[in-house]
Amino acid sequence: MSLILYNTLTRKKEPFTPGDPSRVTMYVCGPTVYNFAHIGNARPPVVFDVLFRLLSARYPKVVYARNFTDVDDKINAAAAAQNVPIKTITDKFTAIYKADMGALGVLTPTVEPCATDHISQMIRMIETLIANKHAYEAEGHVLFDVPSFKDYGVLSGRNRDDMIAGARVEVAPYKKDPADFVLWKPSTPDLPGWDSPWGRGRPGWHIECSAMIEKHLGNTIDIHAGGHDLIFPHHENELAQGTCAHGGATYARMWMHNGFLTMDKEKMSKSLGNIVTVHELLPSWPGEALRYALLAAHYRQPLDWSDESAAQAKATLDRAYRALEQTAGIQAANVAVPAAVIEALEDDLNTPKAMAELAALVKDLNNASDADKPRLKGELLATGKLLGILQQDPAAWFNAAKTSSGVDAAEVERLIAARLDARKAKDFKEADRLRAAIAALGVTIEDRPDGTKWRVE
Ligand code: AMP
Ligand code: ZN
Repeated sequence: MSLILYNTLTRKKEPFTPGDPSRVTMYVCGPTVYNFAHIGNARPPVVFDVLFRLLSARYPKVVYARNFTDVDDKINAAAAAQNVPIKTITDKFTAIYKADMGALGVLTPTVEPCATDHISQMIRMIETLIANKHAYEAEGHVLFDVPSFKDYGVLSGRNRDDMIAGARVEVAPYKKDPADFVLWKPSTPDLPGWDSPWGRGRPGWHIECSAMIEKHLGNTIDIHAGGHDLIFPHHENELAQGTCAHGGATYARMWMHNGFLTMDKEKMSKSLGNIVTVHELLPSWPGEALRYALLAAHYRQPLDWSDESAAQAKATLDRAYRALEQTAGIQAANVAVPAAVIEALEDDLNTPKAMAELAALVKDLNNASDADKPRLKGELLATGKLLGILQQDPAAWFNAAKTSSGVDAAEVERLIAARLDARKAKDFKEADRLRAAIAALGVTIEDRPDGTKWRVE
């Protein structure tokens, strides 16, 4: 079976062929660390985490880099507004981002480079671009000379007039061409800056990623990914400068972009203000349910977010964990992920199809004969592992739901004990009353040979 991925560059699905199968390389543009990540920001790291897991299962070594942009005008503005050093802001939000992604079951990438650790790499790359006549210095700035790269626009499919008219191209007197973009810019003494051949300054956004890719992954990488909004100008510019810095070598073989997470059909974005942060969702929902909800739609489709998305995901995971809880005494067989799941994921990461296969496995396990249970349980766990879910002890899953639900566990235990006493005394009316009182708390109980179990629905 071959892995097929949609390549934004060619606008079609293509078989994935790494340059060197013994070292597959992928890069995902990471966050600018100046405030909390919203649930839309979590879509790329979660989606491409599944890709990382899938590739890691197929190839002996996958080097996955996801950066932190820790130098940026938005960071400078946040530091000034709070009257703290820039590093206070970036350290804080880097740590929060890592914790949030951990809660969403996102594996730590192989490398997590920070832009500010790569300034000398950026300066060297800019010097190469100037030497190759693809960049020029003007008034303390260094700009990429867009007309010097004939393939400019190949990724986004934009023509020059569209680009210049586009909101994100800044017109400035020192530019030779309006489409030229900044590689380096001067810093005033109150702003972060580094010494360079062009004076004290700081890098533009796009050069950061190219320099970190060059250092950690190489001149040509297999997969470059991020959200759809990064196609232009960020990835178009990365492609231009990366190709020109490396004598025309392919910059990335495959470009992948996730669709937007929306709320009431509008893109979730900090600038619109219609955001829900991962940080504020986590006390109400298990991270695993948020992850499931993010994977429930195909990554290139829009995904409209509401509490209902998380609630549905949680209910589905409850069913899966219940099946695992009910087979707690059965040793899972050491089996491979079922072919149907692999086929779904190898078809451009069709996670909704893979989730449907997982739901079918839950049903099969619930209805299975004792002889089939070890295999089905093994298949369910292996599928869960590939998707980054179902790896918790079911008891821990249900206990976490109890504590995060706000239900008073001691009160539930007291009502259960009272109901047991009533039943022993054959006072079934009182036992029914107590069952209803428990249900009114949003708690479901189940009488089992080993005692009465309860869970929050
Ligand atoms: P930013 O912090 O805006 O640079 O975004 C970080 C990452 O999140 C980038 O890969 C963006 O493309 C992605 N992103 C931002 N907003 C959304 C959204 N509403 N839906 C999906 N991805 C998004
Ligand atoms: Zn980038």
